[in-house]
Amino acid sequence: MLQKYDDRNASIKVWIKDKLVDRKDAKVSVFDSTVQGGDAVWEGIRVYKQGVFCLDLHIDRMEDSARAMAFSDIPSREFIKNAIFETLRANGMIDDVHIRLTLSRGEKLTSGMDPRLNAFGSILIVLAEWKPPVYDNDKGIKIITSTIRRNSPMNLDSKIHHNNLINNILAKIQANHAGADDALMLDNYGFLAEMNGTNIFIVKDKVLLTPHADACLHGITRALIIETAKNLDIQVQERNISLTELYSADEAFGTGSMGELTPIYEVDGRRLSDRRKNNITSILSDAFHELSLNYCTKF
Ligand code: PMP
Repeated sequence: MLQKYDDRNASIKVWIKDKLVDRKDAKVSVFDSTVQGGDAVWEGIRVYKQGVFCLDLHIDRMEDSARAMAFSDIPSREFIKNAIFETLRANGMIDDVHIRLTLSRGEKLTSGMDPRLNAFGSILIVLAEWKPPVYDNDKGIKIITSTIRRNSPMNLDSKIHHNNLINNILAKIQANHAGADDALMLDNYGFLAEMNGTNIFIVKDKVLLTPHADACLHGITRALIIETAKNLDIQVQERNISLTELYSADEAFGTGSMGELTPIYEVDGRRLSDRRKNNITSILSDAFHELSLNYCTKF
């Protein structure tokens, strides 16, 4: 398993709605919209000693998702930031921290789907945990291709960062059964979409390639990697990529707030080029770490 229980999280404080509570009391109602239908939006945010990484970009995306889902009361940016900072301060957290920020449509009058049953307002949850990057970025990961397709705008637009994660969880289960670290998901046309929890990039002949953000989350790390590559004069192409191109790639890696930049060393039993030759991956990884310091909000 990539993640393990960390003792330091045994007695953390969690923000729920408008206050901090002890971990053991950090609960939502059985009538909460997240329980009833995965009717919530979320963000995963990393905290470095320089501050909270890409905070405004994460809040922008959360607001966009909540607006797309017609939430009637989205907390103000000031409220969200204050809740995050208070939580981090209360837990004495400064580095090696991951925040799971959730905005639920809130509690319902009775069980059901209809958002008009939500009479009590939305609920913001700030779950900050001690969590170093979850992948071993020196070793990298081994992936398999899942038969579960990543949602396209034809069904459930992957640009909404919602809590209905079954699509990705089914893919992850296939990876688990196959003894792989993560699952690659294709789009409806058979092109690469992303992995179950990260975006995907490949390198071929010194060109960096990534799928259009049509059937994948428009990842914040993804966007920063594209910016980093352009700053370094590395040619970048956003285009359809087939599995054959991945199998014969020089390098491949995943990106996301959980694990930053994670090399992929094997796909469907095919070994990618030797990790030591992963030039562009390590150049981008180093440059990304430098650039990321400019995107931290102090608290
Ligand atoms: N894809 C999926 C499906 C994700 O859940 C995430 C992270 N929440 C990502 C990609 C990476 O996005 P980001 O770089 O914004 O963390």
